[in-house]
Amino acid sequence: MIALPMLASAQSAAVKKEPAAPKLVVGIMVDQMRWDYFYRFNARYGEKGLKRMLREGFACENTFIPYAQTVTAAGHASVYTGSTPAINGIMGNEWYERDLGRGVYCVEDAGVKTIGGAASAKPMSPRNLWTTTITDELRLATNFRSKVIGIAIKDRGGILPAGHSANAAYWFDPGSGHWVTSTYYMNQLPAWATRFNERKVVDSLLRLDWNTLYPIGTYTQSDADDRPWEGRPNNVPKPTFPYALAQFAGKNYGAISTTPQGSTLTLSFAKEAILAEEMGKDDVTDFLAVSLSSPDYIGHTFGPNSIEIEDTYLRLDRDLADFFDMLDQKVGKGNWLTFITADHAVAHVPGYLKNNKIPAEVAAWNRKGLEASVEQRFGVKAPILDYDNYQIYLNYKLMDSLKVDRAALRSFMIEELNKDPQILLAFDNHDISAANLPTVVKERFLQGSNRKRGGDIQVILKPHFFAGGATGTTHGSWYAYDSHIPLVFMGWGVKQGKTYRETYMTDIAPTLAAMLRIQMPSGTIGKVIGEVMK
Ligand SMILES: [Zn+2]
Repeated sequence: MIALPMLASAQSAAVKKEPAAPKLVVGIMVDQMRWDYFYRFNARYGEKGLKRMLREGFACENTFIPYAQTVTAAGHASVYTGSTPAINGIMGNEWYERDLGRGVYCVEDAGVKTIGGAASAKPMSPRNLWTTTITDELRLATNFRSKVIGIAIKDRGGILPAGHSANAAYWFDPGSGHWVTSTYYMNQLPAWATRFNERKVVDSLLRLDWNTLYPIGTYTQSDADDRPWEGRPNNVPKPTFPYALAQFAGKNYGAISTTPQGSTLTLSFAKEAILAEEMGKDDVTDFLAVSLSSPDYIGHTFGPNSIEIEDTYLRLDRDLADFFDMLDQKVGKGNWLTFITADHAVAHVPGYLKNNKIPAEVAAWNRKGLEASVEQRFGVKAPILDYDNYQIYLNYKLMDSLKVDRAALRSFMIEELNKDPQILLAFDNHDISAANLPTVVKERFLQGSNRKRGGDIQVILKPHFFAGGATGTTHGSWYAYDSHIPLVFMGWGVKQGKTYRETYMTDIAPTLAAMLRIQMPSGTIGKVIGEVMK
């Protein structure tokens, strides 16, 4: 009599079938995360954070950036567009725009206004992005019923992943200590965001200061705490633990960026967004794109082999464990899908490498000298308009007015540059296929080349040589230390396992599109990683 309904309910409880689509997708980008951080610090990760991802998820161990300029804006744009700077237009964090006659910041937009920040906060939007993102495609596929929100301390880390049609993107304004947005998305912050800002969580986090999670002597994966090649964030007297941060509360909100608490702050705001906006509540898939910027600021200052970075990742692991717990509780295990990756990785600090007999240098080719020899030979004074992303932009207006042959001037400059012992190769960006480079490397420069926004001459420095300051380190080259990034999927629809097959950051968007059964972004060149799926 009552056997049938009982049987049905017993069955559904036992099988716990996954829904046809995830209720929520959470994209996690960790700014500057190297692939090896998953393993170098693994022994002291907990069970519920990064180790859970490896245990339950699918790891693509050989994921690379398929273009040369490995920087933040290009990375965020390429992951979410499945495309490269050649097609999505995001050449770098900045580039030179010939029509405007000036440098352009990737997400600048003078046509909008900042909402919720200090007067100093510059207005931002995704206007410079040319293609759709996976988040745009989700909005299009659901008649805009899917909710899409992007969040990061860095404006570009929140804006580019959220795409053109997002409900919102939020970023952190150091002037006010507030999460802000722009009129591109809305005319007023939602009440929950204003309340979060009023709580001044940033000050509470600064008051915690920063000491190591474990006794400092146990950080055997890292170099000594006090090294001359380490930078001093916010002008602290020494680059050593403990860092007194309470002094910045209420005064220097930007100080949070170079601390592990920056990720705690970002994930707290992300949790608030999920709850208040009811993301992952109904059956229409929502998408939260969160990017953790602080590991990049910390990495630039101290380098990958510093105690500061080891401690940052041990703490990030705990923050992610809390975040995953919250998603299990509020959205439900099996109902959410996540992936973790990075916009780029990073080089070791040159001073640290040299100290260990590995060749490295902060390098700068002689721009004044080069310009002087061009002037002597061609009579063109100051031919270089800009130098960005290791590309030289030439002043063609000036050259044309003097009737100077463009190609002849370029090849003269390239010949001069190639005399510099710090330069691996300088070549003509107008004919990349003619460059004397292995095909795989040449392909990356083609993927990063953009006639509208790119320069005329490409400079490749030798491995471990890069433009930078006396302390700290950076990224931006095609070399493996900058271009090998982590990629792990976990949750709804994901099979447990791993592959060593070469995959690319541009494969993420088409893989998500296949899983969600939606159209891939307009400029997609990546391929579906079929192994990820159940
Ligand atoms: Zn960076």
